Amino acid sequence: MTDSRPLHPHTRLLHAGQPGFNGDGNAPVNAAIVRTSTVRFATVAQMDALKKRRQVGEQVSLYGRHGTDTHRALEAALCTLEGANHAWLAPSGVAAITLGMLSLLGHGDHVLITDSVYDPVPHRIVSTLFARFGIESSYFDPLTQPIEEHLRSNTRVVYAESPGSILFEVLDIPAIARATHAHGALLMVDNTWAAGYLQAPMDLGADLVACALTKYQGGHSDLMQGALLARDDALARRILATYEALGYAVSADDASLVLRGLRTLPVRMAQHGRHVLEVANWLLAQPEVENVYCPGLPSDPGHALWKRDFSGHNGLLSVQFKDFTGQQLNAFADALQLHSIGASWGGYESLALPVTSAALAPHQGWQRAQKQREQAGLPPSAGVVRLHVGLEDVGDLTADLQQAIQHACSVR
Ligand SMILES: *Cc1c(COP(=O)(O)O)cnc(C)c1O
Repeated sequence: MTDSRPLHPHTRLLHAGQPGFNGDGNAPVNAAIVRTSTVRFATVAQMDALKKRRQVGEQVSLYGRHGTDTHRALEAALCTLEGANHAWLAPSGVAAITLGMLSLLGHGDHVLITDSVYDPVPHRIVSTLFARFGIESSYFDPLTQPIEEHLRSNTRVVYAESPGSILFEVLDIPAIARATHAHGALLMVDNTWAAGYLQAPMDLGADLVACALTKYQGGHSDLMQGALLARDDALARRILATYEALGYAVSADDASLVLRGLRTLPVRMAQHGRHVLEVANWLLAQPEVENVYCPGLPSDPGHALWKRDFSGHNGLLSVQFKDFTGQQLNAFADALQLHSIGASWGGYESLALPVTSAALAPHQGWQRAQKQREQAGLPPSAGVVRLHVGLEDVGDLTADLQQAIQHACSVR
């Protein structure tokens, strides 16, 4: 490889974590799947030397829970993807988020959270676990509320997800990072929408990035995994201390599946990104459709920021119908043949998930949309259907959507 011309990130991703040549000068293409429960040492002195390296934060393995060469290969590839120096694998995306927050927060601290984040963050992590440990939390909408008014003297972490879950509000991460750092706090960003690479939160100022590898990095709907990433060595030592206490471990088999998924991530994302815009434009042309939430559409309020900070689009959109009742939203989803009903996304296949207005109520973005309807003399909207647009033929997908819309219209 030449030193003069930097490699395109796609190229670096394809080769990151590949095994080097052995003494005979040969090597497999892929990292071996190395399973073990513990690690054997030739001498006590060598064991102690490795122990010292782990104590100062290096990801070397002394025990099965610390992972093997398979895990190191995936961590290296994820660092390449996100421009990070340190990566920790977690049993799920939620586990990665919990790891990041628990590493930085303690009793009496406050975490400030953007209001459009993935639902289990407020409802599973913060309001239950953290509240019991005396960690304060509050929410704000960075699109309309100045962050400075929400930062408290004990705010240690600002947690953001961009685009937001369900309505995909695109946030100004560099502006949030500046305000967070001016306050002496740290910024953690969930980069799952961007599959860890359509947006580079650390280049935009984030200190920590969490990602659900369950989604696009795995890419085939056959595993659960998460990752937490950091650049700074001192921060990495704090995370390692918490990581050791939580006892997270992921199997070498699953780590190898994520590595396999990473190699085709750019081609899959390019097709998801094309398909989602074709489906979004098709939906907008339907008389029953009121709005499509999808930052890749020029009509989306987040489009300009998305163009500034993202290098592509994933397969997600949410569709809002003009006057569908909640019953009709469900009838629409039930009638879909190619799209399965389900949460999650990021696999090759198309999915649909009705999200009720009640579930969306905490989002300022949804409250604004409802207010606009009221001003236009329209009844409140029953909610949206989030679609994950998969890799199937787009004509087949729109035909499926068409028959389901027709079915829903007949349920009055
Ligand atoms: C799915 C998801 C997660 C959680 O990942 P799991 O592996 O399902 O725990 C976190 N953040 C976002 C934005 C997600 O979509």
